[in-house]
Amino acid sequence: MTSRERQANAQRARQARAALAVENDLVHAYRQAWQRIREDLLRAVAEIRAAEARGESIEAIKLIQLHRLTTLESQVEAEIRYAVNLNAATITNAQADAVLAARISAEDLIRTTLGAGPATWQPAFPVGAFRSLVGYSADGQPLGLLLQELGPAAGASVRKSLVTGLARGLNPNVVAREARTALGGNMVRATTIARTEILRAYRTTALETYKANEDVVTGWQWIANLGGACQMCIAMHGEIADSEDGFDTHPACKCTPIPVTKTWKELGFEGVEDTAPEIESGSDWFARQDAAKQLSVLGPGKYAAYRDGRVGLKDLVQRTQSDRWGGGRRARSLKDALAVA
Ligand SMILES: [Zn+2]
Repeated sequence: MTSRERQANAQRARQARAALAVENDLVHAYRQAWQRIREDLLRAVAEIRAAEARGESIEAIKLIQLHRLTTLESQVEAEIRYAVNLNAATITNAQADAVLAARISAEDLIRTTLGAGPATWQPAFPVGAFRSLVGYSADGQPLGLLLQELGPAAGASVRKSLVTGLARGLNPNVVAREARTALGGNMVRATTIARTEILRAYRTTALETYKANEDVVTGWQWIANLGGACQMCIAMHGEIADSEDGFDTHPACKCTPIPVTKTWKELGFEGVEDTAPEIESGSDWFARQDAAKQLSVLGPGKYAAYRDGRVGLKDLVQRTQSDRWGGGRRARSLKDALAVA
């Protein structure tokens, strides 16, 4: 690993830790919300069961059920809305920290990449772009709007699990467990949003800083944390992009861009050695790993195809395009990868 990769990885790890702290706050808020929801859910189930036990008419039971379900749904919606609103400011603050940290880190990386030479480089400050980063999500909407979608979604999914549980005559604790699983899915969405948006603010700022310094920076290079990255990001590691290219990746991606700088010769200084060592491509790195590591990253099907030379790691990178989120990348399925290989 080159010193630039180590530097980029250390910065990435700091950002990932900051994002994790915010995620933990969200998990805590969901846990507290669940305590309150669980009590009401059990009470609702008990009330419906009691009506059944009293031998009330089907119509009467249905009415009680409808009333209880509707009340519970709006309660869940309110609880989750409260939980995410409470954390919206934390996410926004973390985005603001990420913007500050990214600019400094990007400048440090430009310095490291240029290396010691005959001239001192003066960083230029990127203008404009930050305003649309802090407090906003990747679709350009205020972050709060994206988070607010979680409340109604949580209410609907808890209601659905309750309806299913009641219809199947499940034990109240089992119904509660299924509702908790449904809410868990909603919580994962919340933490994914938080992590994605914090790391995106970091990456976008780094790219903006590179762009603002085009006198020395020609583009950027994709750096994955090779030990822990997904197959798509390993394949992208070391890829060089032009300074106009965005960092199109998957949600919650922890990869980071490092600058590609002009050579001293390109900067007009003859006979000065360029010291930044080349970065090994993710594909080459992956080829050097043992079978167990390759298998754990690829899964059995893709691993067999990779080992037999039917697909290369690069064949697994698929670009995606969404009206709402713009460009992205994800791992291709084995079937699609075999078709393009
Ligand atoms: Zn990644």
